[in-house]
Amino acid sequence: MTIVVGVARTQRIVVVGGGVLGTMHAVAARRRGFEVVQLEREAEARGASVRNFGLVWVSGRRPGAELALALRARELWEELADRVPGLGFRAAGSLTIATEDAELRLLKEAAGLPDADRRQFELLDPDGVRAVNPALRGEFAGGLLCRADAIVEPRKVLPALRAYLSAGGGYEWLPGREVTEIAPNAVRDHTGAWHQCDLVILCPGAVLTGVIGRYPGYLARDGVRRVRLQMMQTAPMARRLTTSVADGDSLRYYPAYDLPGRGQLAPQSGVAARTRAQLLLVQRADGALTIGDTHEYDEPFAFDVDSDAYDHLGARAETLLGAPIPRVQRRWAGVYSEVTLGQALYHRSEVEPGVVLVTGPGGRGMTCSPAIAEETFF
Ligand SMILES: Cc1cc2nc3c(=O)[nH]c(=O)nc-3n(C[C@H](O)[C@H](O)[C@H](O)COP(=O)(O)OP(=O)(O)OC[C@H]3O[C@@H](n4cnc5c(N)ncnc54)[C@H](O)[C@@H]3O)c2cc1C
Repeated sequence: MTIVVGVARTQRIVVVGGGVLGTMHAVAARRRGFEVVQLEREAEARGASVRNFGLVWVSGRRPGAELALALRARELWEELADRVPGLGFRAAGSLTIATEDAELRLLKEAAGLPDADRRQFELLDPDGVRAVNPALRGEFAGGLLCRADAIVEPRKVLPALRAYLSAGGGYEWLPGREVTEIAPNAVRDHTGAWHQCDLVILCPGAVLTGVIGRYPGYLARDGVRRVRLQMMQTAPMARRLTTSVADGDSLRYYPAYDLPGRGQLAPQSGVAARTRAQLLLVQRADGALTIGDTHEYDEPFAFDVDSDAYDHLGARAETLLGAPIPRVQRRWAGVYSEVTLGQALYHRSEVEPGVVLVTGPGGRGMTCSPAIAEETFF
């Protein structure tokens, strides 16, 4: 659904939610000259936007609208990075590594997709993989290079964008304010203060209760559900990874690989199947390795983290690196919301006159956030 924002009428926008979707809406609104007030219930955003890999991930997107959204977002991230170096944007590309013949055959199929050039795919043999990313010294059958993929620093993106917005004026950041009431063209926070505006944009992430719980019908329309993932981060590794890395298990999750060869993949190992794991590996700017992830779909979610999943992911990383990973320093879980019905790539609805709810981008939310915000203002 496209909400038409009347540029002539709209002057002041309230954004609810300090995650990447809310903040990219603030950026898009300021670019169009609107005044922006952004409210966040925590002292600093603590949701999916700071818990993710920071992957701007084009490679695995479904052909058509999803790929187009991701490519537009990739362009916008790069443009923004020129103005906001603190995003830590790197056009590093990615390597999806096959350790078995069936995985390699599927990568070959993907490399032959009609849109492979838009993804900047190139199929590499093991020597080719090592030439691109010499830190990968393990045993593997080949890899798919995607030059379009990129990396940002999730722990730095939000403060960096807010500093940029604040420097430009017309922007107010109000942390520690939970929105508890929504009216047409206004919201009230938990201190009782009303914030009047011409347009409210709600970006609550996976917080679908509280004030958002008043709109279950809208969320049900797109089958919005929540997903919990486990992640970890190591101490800095001296060797540099020149690209991000994914393993063959990722071929089961990303829609670009929904090709005939997927049916030939061997069953996942016990722990990987139970925790629905795939290896994604990103080196942070300081050298640390962010390693994940798992997928939990049934609520109530576990409140603790599962060591078997971490052992599995750590071992997979070591197989590809051909070396031990540094000591794991941090473990965490994160929850995102995702649409599951129909063709929508995320949920957008006008839940009250002048009040737009945007959520549910799922595992593509960090990637697509600048393009999603842009679409809100079309
Ligand atoms: C572990 C993990 C790894 C991921 N990896 C990637 C990746 O590498 N690439 C990618 O593209 N995507 C990734 N994703 C998905 C991506 O992180 C999310 O889709 C995206 O961050 C969602 O952003 P958001 O702003 O909607 O939500 P959030 O980041 O959750 O932000 C929502 C904010 O709204 C605030 N809020 C909620 N209700 C209120 C209220 N009533 N009043 C005030 N504030 C409120 C919350 O406190 C929160 O800070 C990953 C997600 C997870 C969990």
